Amino acid sequence: MNRERHILGISGGRDSAALAVYMRQNHPAIDMEYFFTDTGKELPEVYDFLNRLEGFLGKPIDRLNPDRDFDFWLAEYGNFLPSAKTRWCTRQLKLRPLNQWLKDDLENGVDVHSYVAIRADEPNRSGYKSPHTNMKVHFPLREAGIDKAGVIDLLKDTDIGEPEYYRWRSRSGCTFCFFQQKIEWVRLMQEHPEAFAEARAYEKTAEEHGSPFTWSDSESLDELAQPERIAAIKADYEKRRARALKALRPNPLSGRSEPTLDEIYGADESNSCVICHK
Ligand code: SF4
Repeated sequence: MNRERHILGISGGRDSAALAVYMRQNHPAIDMEYFFTDTGKELPEVYDFLNRLEGFLGKPIDRLNPDRDFDFWLAEYGNFLPSAKTRWCTRQLKLRPLNQWLKDDLENGVDVHSYVAIRADEPNRSGYKSPHTNMKVHFPLREAGIDKAGVIDLLKDTDIGEPEYYRWRSRSGCTFCFFQQKIEWVRLMQEHPEAFAEARAYEKTAEEHGSPFTWSDSESLDELAQPERIAAIKADYEKRRARALKALRPNPLSGRSEPTLDEIYGADESNSCVICHK
């Protein structure tokens, strides 16, 4: 029989953490290897959350650091910022370290079982597919019928709770992730001014090298950081929130009194990345 490995990627978000909890509780005999691909540009709240999770799991989460950092790849890509259309960041800082971690074993015929945090209420999603035939992908949350509410319950019941950044941001991932809404940029500026300043500096360098892309749609962070623009973004957020609250109220069974950021902005959660944001 082939040697086997069982791996579970932790993104720093709630779904992959809940999957780790679920597997620990329901399949304790599996010798799971937990890993976190660290771009070096993660929020401090993510590391706090990983520490809490490690305490519960009783084993370390392997940090897979890229062999070359964001600055190296930015220069390689001509100082063009990554964007939703050209996601070199995920390829080079998330997928490349994972492939390197598994490469030798996959080439030597080891069966790698990868457990992916796609929930039961995400019927149209699929996980990352490795080109190797001996990589098998499993979706235990989906198979167990666990939806978003179930994920939140799993984390609450184990006292791990949710990552602290959910107070002001909807997704895990890099501080400067371009999937952020405008209000999240404003909040990043308040919560982690040094990370906002770093993103602003990257944008300036990109602009100096002729990159047409900004982190946020149709404006630079310099423009977004102007007081009148911040006030407009906050006012727009409050208007959208009031609308989303009205839509939420007719359903008291939902048990929720606050719409999510995705609901407020009409964003499709399924557009988020399985690797970065689950
Ligand atoms: S979190 Fe965002 S910026 Fe970071 S690698 Fe993923 S898509 Fe790119």
